[in-house]
Amino acid sequence: MNFNNFTRKEFLKHLSLGAGAVFALPALGPLDLSRNRKYYETWRDIRELPDDEKLGIALVGLGSYSNGQLGPALLETKLCKLSGVVTGTPEKEDQWAEQYGIKRSNIYNYDNYDSIVDNPEIDIIYIVLPNGMHAEYSIRAAEAGKHLICEKPMATSVSDCRDMIEACRKADRKLSIGYRLHYEPHHEEAMRLGREQVYGPVKEIEGGLGFNITGNPDAWRLDQELAGGGPLMDVGVYVIQAGIYTLGALPEAVTAYTELTMPDIFDEVEETIFWEMEFPGSAVLKGECSYTQGSNYLRSDARNGKFSIQPAYSYRGIAGETVSGPMDFPQVNQQTLQMDAFTDHILNGSKNLVPGEMGMRDVDIMMEIYKAAETGECIELDMSGYSV
Ligand code: NAD
Repeated sequence: MNFNNFTRKEFLKHLSLGAGAVFALPALGPLDLSRNRKYYETWRDIRELPDDEKLGIALVGLGSYSNGQLGPALLETKLCKLSGVVTGTPEKEDQWAEQYGIKRSNIYNYDNYDSIVDNPEIDIIYIVLPNGMHAEYSIRAAEAGKHLICEKPMATSVSDCRDMIEACRKADRKLSIGYRLHYEPHHEEAMRLGREQVYGPVKEIEGGLGFNITGNPDAWRLDQELAGGGPLMDVGVYVIQAGIYTLGALPEAVTAYTELTMPDIFDEVEETIFWEMEFPGSAVLKGECSYTQGSNYLRSDARNGKFSIQPAYSYRGIAGETVSGPMDFPQVNQQTLQMDAFTDHILNGSKNLVPGEMGMRDVDIMMEIYKAAETGECIELDMSGYSV
């Protein structure tokens, strides 16, 4: 089903799948039934801006995510458009200029990157570089007076995240993280089911994401300095996110351990990591992520029933189940919605669902997970100053 054709009536039908439970069970927090509805109504009916009024985005780093997802997604955005690129590979300049009709004057390399400050056609810079380069290129983007989207994980240390937030604050620019699943309807539904306690309080969440990258042992993802860590930094962050947004709460403590079967390849970053996070009310998140073992799931066990998403974190083909039946939501272009939502935040002051502070919170949590794995101890988490 095409997202744009998803009518209000259809959406209400989808929403009503679990509606009996919604109204039958008491919720502890304030109900926010409007959230999904507003989301759909807003984005379904979003008025496309004329091309010359759309904000211009420049992608920095034209690797697989820019090439496979962000470039194509920017062909569908209604409030922003692909205006420029920054690449260190001259052949990509021609390819992107041709494929997306990007003006030569809007194509930059890593040497003349800072001169983007003089380009009024670029409003937003989107950092899609290896994790260890996020902070430097983000701060330079803010100093060039551009709004900023930075891919996950936000950076490889909490202090870098703090510097990025400060740079954007100083430049009075907006900042968000590439957390695309906040715009995905099955995940929106998991947030609703969990936070509104539609099936009672969630007691346990299990989440896992893993794949095999051993075919490319030179990948930056295996380099501690460029990656900041292994699969936890790369994809475990989705599981942490999912736990927090399903429960609507911040974790209080964590234990973790790693598993290593290929020491020649994983001599800098972890191969597989498991962790268990405690939340208020004795809810638990059991997470796993791996660069050798495949997984892609999110399962929530609430007092009166279960709900799950599997595959959970893919770009397409996401499927969900609840005790009331399947989640029957459309597949959406997550990146298109994410970039339009950020542009709407800039233009119209709508809420930034994925701010820099959220990226910093998650990096902080991941550092504590690593500490727990190294020490074998249960680490108490100080989440003061952070929000869900
Ligand atoms: P990639 O290896 O495919 O691309 C990285 C790009 O950075 C390449 O174009 C490469 O040329 C460039 N680069 C510049 N300097 C480099 C250096 N010193 N070493 C290596 N590459 C360098 O990686 P990717 O999969 O596109 O990931 C890029 C970023 O996007 C990462 O932060 C990753 O976590 C994130 N990402 C997010 C999602 C998501 O779903 N949100 C998905 C994939 C990747």
